[in-house]
Amino acid sequence: MTNQEHVELGRQYVMNTYGRLPIAFVRGQGARLWDSDGKEYLDFLSGLAVNSLGHCHPKVVQAIQKQAEELLHVSNLYWIEGQNKLAQAIVNNSFADKVFFCNSGAEANEGAIKLARKYAKKTWGEEKYEIITMEHSFHGRTLAALTATGQRKYQEGFAPLPTGFRYVPFGDLKALAEAINSHTCAIMIEPIQGEGGVNIADKTYWEGLAQIVAEHNLLLIVDEVQSGMGRTGKLFAYDHYGLQPNIMTLAKALGGGVPIGAMAATDEVASAFSPGDHASTFGGNPLVTSAGLAVMEVMLEEGFLSRVQEMGSYLQEQLNKMAQKHSSIVEVRGLGLMVACQLDREGTAIVSSCLEKGLIINCTAGKVLRFLPPLTINRHDIDQAITILDTAFMAQGNG
Ligand SMILES: *Cc1c(COP(=O)(O)O)cnc(C)c1O
Repeated sequence: MTNQEHVELGRQYVMNTYGRLPIAFVRGQGARLWDSDGKEYLDFLSGLAVNSLGHCHPKVVQAIQKQAEELLHVSNLYWIEGQNKLAQAIVNNSFADKVFFCNSGAEANEGAIKLARKYAKKTWGEEKYEIITMEHSFHGRTLAALTATGQRKYQEGFAPLPTGFRYVPFGDLKALAEAINSHTCAIMIEPIQGEGGVNIADKTYWEGLAQIVAEHNLLLIVDEVQSGMGRTGKLFAYDHYGLQPNIMTLAKALGGGVPIGAMAATDEVASAFSPGDHASTFGGNPLVTSAGLAVMEVMLEEGFLSRVQEMGSYLQEQLNKMAQKHSSIVEVRGLGLMVACQLDREGTAIVSSCLEKGLIINCTAGKVLRFLPPLTINRHDIDQAITILDTAFMAQGNG
């Protein structure tokens, strides 16, 4: 089938919830993808920060193949070897003591909201339930996660929304302090805002936030769905800022391409859940946790994360050089391989132009070009992406 045939079939039968580009990919290898017409692309989006080891990483493929032949699924009425081991790997490499598995980022955040409320009510009283989240945040599309998401455009048309959320600007300590009231139980925040435009707050902000959390005895929930799993050059981005979260959510890159989410917490907080309080049929099943374990093993190999930092710096350097030639680029920012170019105009034309030239990137928050290449990317591929991007900017006549 051709791209066009896939587009026509999809338009007829698939619900119209995405603004899709007219391409259907059929094969991937490392940082490369091929579409139905046989055209090759360099992938600087990684399925939205999912394929962080590149496409079809041999260790992930092997783990999935082996597991598929042994056992795909059993219910959480029994213990699951891969789930236990993946939980152990997350615990051994983070602040957390216990992990709950689910199937997506939104679902992980739903779990975090439920756990925070349950813990707060049990520990501090029934009136403690309000969660402060950030403007321009993104926490997912289920009703509570959507309400936690501090972006009106995603909420329009879906009222009534659950109550118990309050929003403050990201990076604004004064607004955060002022928003705290007798109902506040938690702050839920992305260490780096992803969908909101790769927004980064400075160290002073995080120090002040930690102080506010301690002073008011609040829970700190970090949403690492996009920034976690090595993306920023540390396994989890909260580690850059010396934060001590109580709850963390993961998904996207955790399974290297299979759908898996996780919600991790300290023993103290996790103990608020008892059997029956929360569940997921597929959560942490043998297939997805075997993939997650393979991903973890690769990311924890000596030198993997330092290489992410090195390639991230190289990508930002090259983008900065290019930015000097094109006045429509206002700023280059990022951490590790979570990188963005702030433009002075809408970014969709550049995204289309790159796609036509064989480079996959994304535009978020209107004027932000976002780069999320596989963490296994090399200098040669970064150079190729920069060349294509440079040509796209020139073709636009942006000076
Ligand atoms: C993508 C994302 C989510 C939602 O994840 P889904 O798997 O799409 O539900 C939540 N939080 C952050 C920070 C994300 O980037």
